[in-house]
Amino acid sequence: MSEAGKRLLLICALAAGLLGNATAAASSRPDATDSPDALLQLMQSSYTQAARAVAREQSLADSAERRIAAARQELRLLQQYGRFADLQALLKRQQADAELSQDAALRIDQQITAARIALSEGQAAQAARALASLRERLVQINEPEQRDRAVLALAAVDAALGQRDAATQALGELIKRALRGEAGGEQQNRAALAYMQLAAIQLDMRDYQQGLLYYQEALRTAPDWAQHTQARARMGVAQMLNMTGGRPQAFEQLSAALAQFRLSDDQHGEADALLLQGFFLSRDGQARAAIAPYRQALALREGLHAQADVINALTHLGAQLAQVGQLAEAVLTTRRAVDLAQATDSASLQSDALNTYAEALAANGQPAQAFQEMSRAYSALQKMARLELVSQTGALREQFETDRQKLENERLNERLQLQQSGQSRLRWAFGVLAGLTALLLAALIALGRLYLTTRRLAQHDGLTGLYNRRRVLQLLEAEIERARRYQLQLALLSVDLDNFKKINDSQGHACGDRVLKDVARLFRQTLRQEDLAGRVGGEEFLLLLPHTGEAAALQLAERLRAQMEAELSVVPGWPVTASIGVASWMPGLGADELLQRADTALYEAKHKGRNRSELASQLGGLDSVPGGALPA
Ligand code: GH3
Ligand code: MG
Ligand code: MG
Repeated sequence: MSEAGKRLLLICALAAGLLGNATAAASSRPDATDSPDALLQLMQSSYTQAARAVAREQSLADSAERRIAAARQELRLLQQYGRFADLQALLKRQQADAELSQDAALRIDQQITAARIALSEGQAAQAARALASLRERLVQINEPEQRDRAVLALAAVDAALGQRDAATQALGELIKRALRGEAGGEQQNRAALAYMQLAAIQLDMRDYQQGLLYYQEALRTAPDWAQHTQARARMGVAQMLNMTGGRPQAFEQLSAALAQFRLSDDQHGEADALLLQGFFLSRDGQARAAIAPYRQALALREGLHAQADVINALTHLGAQLAQVGQLAEAVLTTRRAVDLAQATDSASLQSDALNTYAEALAANGQPAQAFQEMSRAYSALQKMARLELVSQTGALREQFETDRQKLENERLNERLQLQQSGQSRLRWAFGVLAGLTALLLAALIALGRLYLTTRRLAQHDGLTGLYNRRRVLQLLEAEIERARRYQLQLALLSVDLDNFKKINDSQGHACGDRVLKDVARLFRQTLRQEDLAGRVGGEEFLLLLPHTGEAAALQLAERLRAQMEAELSVVPGWPVTASIGVASWMPGLGADELLQRADTALYEAKHKGRNRSELASQLGGLDSVPGGALPA
């Protein structure tokens, strides 16, 4: 039977089920056996049909219980299909409804929804606040399905706040749990979603190879009925393939994902895929062909009324129009992005839009105005940096509150035990109490120090004292700008320690940390004053070498590598080694492309057996290696 035929049958069967047994449909979520139920399957395969089913259920709901069930379904549906503008309105309506706001499970769904909305707008600190109370109450959530969704949302927040280890661990545990569940069940789908989040973390860390593996795992794990999850995973696979050099395959996977999104009326997914298609085409040298998908993505996003997404699409389209010389329209389009961005309170959207607008103006022969807009972009950037400081402080405070609460609980437990076991332990307990109070005090003092060092933390990595990832990427942009303006040389080393996992696994995490510090110290000793070193991932470093050509950069890479091998060791007899990718900047290269070149050279070094350096310019076909990240 054809796919369309199967779908029609499924829909008829579901409609019959919904009409024939309204009570069953009311509790329409995974039951105790956790098997995928009809509505969940429908939600995976068709937005329109699922929306109709939910609406029907709402109109038939004749008890509080059924209304609550329907309300939860609606939240879930809109979330899955990225309808964040509608979700905002729905949340407001639900919260104003006295009957609905009684229900604890619905309230948890609402918390998760609020966090997802905030994350979609890049407001990680706000998302963390929405979930703050949930983190501590996770074990009290009765529905395994809801608990997993809370875990997924919390991990997304952690990752957005840079707490990648915590996120990775939580996702790993979820997957382990889920894979014990019934094959093809809803739990399996959650495992696939967790794999996708792991992949997104890898993307953030620019480990595209690992990201690809996770997306492929997600695609493999997603049950047959989970078409929505499959399409999303397929799009991720395409994105990673594009990064790692498999462009023809990337195009193939992307069209498959696009078709799946269209089949299920998933406009949010379709717009994302179209934007990615435009991005692939533009990186493939097909600048003109990229315009059409960008336009379609814009139209879809306008229909969904998600402001941040619309601005993002306008920015991409505007930049592309400027690139192919359609300057008048480029100016108009980017101008619209600026106007819309000004109406939001997101400094990052504003800065992106202003920058693209300025570039379009410059290309259009309006340098004075371009300069003015560039300055506004710069102020927006400054504001963003300030805001980030504030949100980081907020996150620290939350962490402190959690730790304090834990101490408090331990103290209460002690007291309880004490009462039960009588006076004899009183003195001992006093000792414990005094100790805990001292700990609390120490924590308070530490908090004070943390506040003082927040500014430093915002730019430096806590373990090694090198620049952190965000800062080093900012510095790279600035150095490229300087090299471009004054026609200077600039080289980039991407350094990844070899077999670091083995060090951790066999010698312990503390030993791994010590090695990282040793490596940072060696960098500081060996590099020149004006070189910049940053830690960009667990055991990954970026070194920016201004005024340095390719040959000198390779020489330095080799020297660093040899020094590491000779001077540093994990334990006596086990030298520390690293693989290094060397790329030099050339006019026309952006930060993303330069990073990508260095990373590709790094992969080559790994591939050729590790403990070696490779030059990006020596790699065959590098110019066909795509660059940049997914237009978010
Ligand atoms: P390869 O040679 O291919 O790079 O292998 P690898 O083991 O170095 O690479 P992989 O990416 O598999 O492992 C990196 C490890 O780094 C995994 C993670 O546990 C560890 N790691 C990440 N951050 C830290 C950290 O802050 N401290 C310590 N001790 N280990 C870390
Ligand atoms: Mg690594
Ligand atoms: Mg490594």
